[in-house]
Amino acid sequence: RTLEQVLADGIRDIPDYPQEGVVFKDITPLLADHTGFGQVVQALAAAGQDDDGNPVVDKVVGIEARGFILAAPVALALGAGFVPVRKKGKLPAATYEESYALEYGEATIEVHQDAFAPGDRVLVIDDVLATGGTVEACLRLIRRCEAEVVGTAVLLELSFLPWRERLASERITSLLSV
Ligand code: 5GP
Repeated sequence: RTLEQVLADGIRDIPDYPQEGVVFKDITPLLADHTGFGQVVQALAAAGQDDDGNPVVDKVVGIEARGFILAAPVALALGAGFVPVRKKGKLPAATYEESYALEYGEATIEVHQDAFAPGDRVLVIDDVLATGGTVEACLRLIRRCEAEVVGTAVLLELSFLPWRERLASERITSLLSV
């Protein structure tokens, strides 16, 4: 199967979740598809490799919670370490935090202050890019740690939302655009 078929088969629309009028993209069928999951991990890992397929990152960041599922196997595939970026209050040691606007209210994410060595090259992984607020805040966190963002890779971008303007200067890879 092509990557396109794997993604088409593995991501389904759930209407009115988490609230009425929202169509949620559910990736759990893809995760349950062993060969498809493997293809997706390889495709995301390519964002952390040079043209010859050599890894160019030291750390892979996963954004809670679905980002964790994708980022951990990508980190292993690249021979890189895994770093969790979590919702506020979940990480045990000293953290940096960044807040960003949601449709209603605000969210805060955190990373351990010692998660990176200075100059670490970092690939960020999440499942879905919607408004771009989560990724934008995550990139601020990584830069506060004096690490270098190599790029961001997601499974799916919702192209009807204005994340492109917000992340115009960033290197973003998405495997599927809807
Ligand atoms: P953003 O900050 O770009 O607006 O929202 C992206 C974050 O919300 C991601 O961490 C992603 O997991 C989650 N998200 C938003 N919409 C969806 C969706 O339709 N499906 C999935 N799987 N995650 C979503």
